[in-house]
Amino acid sequence: MGTMYNIACESCGHAFGLMDGTGFFYDRLETMINRLSPSHKAAVEAFQKPTETKDWSAWMHVYECTSCNDLSSHLYFRIYNVDGDALIVNYRCSKCSAELKPVYGFDRSKHKCPRCGKRALGNHPLLCDGDWD
Ligand SMILES: [Zn+2]
Ligand SMILES: [Zn+2]
Repeated sequence: MGTMYNIACESCGHAFGLMDGTGFFYDRLETMINRLSPSHKAAVEAFQKPTETKDWSAWMHVYECTSCNDLSSHLYFRIYNVDGDALIVNYRCSKCSAELKPVYGFDRSKHKCPRCGKRALGNHPLLCDGDWD
């Protein structure tokens, strides 16, 4: 079960949604690998063969841009090979190409609005936060 955050900026009205958590389709490695971008998929396949998979995990995660404060949701994907080394998929900002960092324990009041830069993110006036799976 995951959480859908419906957010609106109380200053400029910018509204957007973020997903966080695990859904029902997060059970098969093959399915998860196919949801990655082609370059990420190639990196995972080069890192280890499916038959050598030791452990892996995947869930939707909120990311924040290290440069422009943009917030977005991406698939957090971590896989281990037989040697116990971990590969974690990284993402870049779709707006400015800077590195994205995962946000743990997302709290909208701690983040700046990606549009106006004010710390005024609140609840969406029409949409409540919800569950998704
Ligand atoms: Zn704003
Ligand atoms: Zn950015």
